[in-house]
Amino acid sequence: MTYISAKIRRLVAERAGRRCEYCLIHEDDTFLGCEVDHIISKKHGGSNEPENLAYACLFCNRHKGTDIGSIYPNTGKLTRFYNPRKDRWGKHFQLNDVIIEPLTGIGEVTVRLFVFNNSERLLEREALVSIGAYPATKPQ
Ligand SMILES: [Zn+2]
Repeated sequence: MTYISAKIRRLVAERAGRRCEYCLIHEDDTFLGCEVDHIISKKHGGSNEPENLAYACLFCNRHKGTDIGSIYPNTGKLTRFYNPRKDRWGKHFQLNDVIIEPLTGIGEVTVRLFVFNNSERLLEREALVSIGAYPATKPQ
């Protein structure tokens, strides 16, 4: 576990509007809340600086683990994950009802490895959409 100060945690949470920067769920709407994620994991040389940190729900963060990318089947190439500090969500993903669809190779490996669309998460999103709580903020 890496020490990240309360001040940095607050900055990361507020910058993200307190929603997961990957699947866009608000921390109040996910049972286990959100936590600070190292976009490039420490294992791969990522820093503790705010530009390497993102706010992520536990579901996204657990599936991501220390990975930083995967193989994009269409090209067979190692492809990095979506980076909330560098990339625009709407360039790599689109919402089709409650399904997060990839638009790019980066989107594809992120959707697959983060398991964005398993049935449990789709049911959760459907419930949130019905009360107007998802997506927590309009994707940029
Ligand atoms: Zn998430």
